[in-house]
Amino acid sequence: MRQPLVMGNWKMNGRRSTVETLLKGVIAEISGLSGVEIAVCPPYPYLGLVIERLAANEAVACGAQDVSAYADGAYTGDVSAGMARDVGCRFAIIGHSERRTLFGESDTVVAQKFARALAADLTPVLCVGETAAERDAGRTQEVVLRQLSAVFRECGSGAFERAVVAYEPVWAIGTGRAASPDEAQSVHRYIRDVIAQQSAQAAGRLRILYGGSVKAQNARELFGQDDIDGGLIGGASLVAADFVGICRAACIG
Ligand code: PEP
Repeated sequence: MRQPLVMGNWKMNGRRSTVETLLKGVIAEISGLSGVEIAVCPPYPYLGLVIERLAANEAVACGAQDVSAYADGAYTGDVSAGMARDVGCRFAIIGHSERRTLFGESDTVVAQKFARALAADLTPVLCVGETAAERDAGRTQEVVLRQLSAVFRECGSGAFERAVVAYEPVWAIGTGRAASPDEAQSVHRYIRDVIAQQSAQAAGRLRILYGGSVKAQNARELFGQDDIDGGLIGGASLVAADFVGICRAACIG
């Protein structure tokens, strides 16, 4: 039985005051919630603040939105996986489509970041997913396979033993148009099958999150699918009540 995981990706949003308010709201609303693991991923400058506030609250973990492909050293502007771990992060989002598209991260760079996260004892959350054009061309499986294969090449057949995968169709991110539960389930199943070819044990334990316009209203049906083990939430994670509503749906789903 895989425990559901719901992660909030705050992206490049917030200031100290709004971060404090959002966090207070999440902590207040989740009291009494069980059966779901919850994490939030604030922007780097607020990691310390969030981790300090969460210290007394085992119920919510913290994650980084990205880590460097390099270890510590002369890489101005980057933040290493070791640093993220050192300040108290448990997770790191790796290869979010915004990183791939807007910052030109190749599959190889994403795989290197994944390896750095694992080496630093962070749980990498590998984002995979196709664009609208790729889906329309019937290339969804080919794209997802290419993204997963780069990680296997870098980290070997046990790559996903201590990891999470997030299926995030690019056309669903921030658009208000979520994948249907059937559409998502069929890609999640495919992801699990690909990983099972390398390690049946890792595939059985792997949590595969769905991301892309998840709201409290559609979360329960999505999370109710056999191979959907929670969600990676963007926009709706910026409103405490909405985010906790999604966490609640994961407990029931
Ligand atoms: C995301 O940014 O990972 C995401 C899923 O965004 P949204 O929930 O806003 O679609």
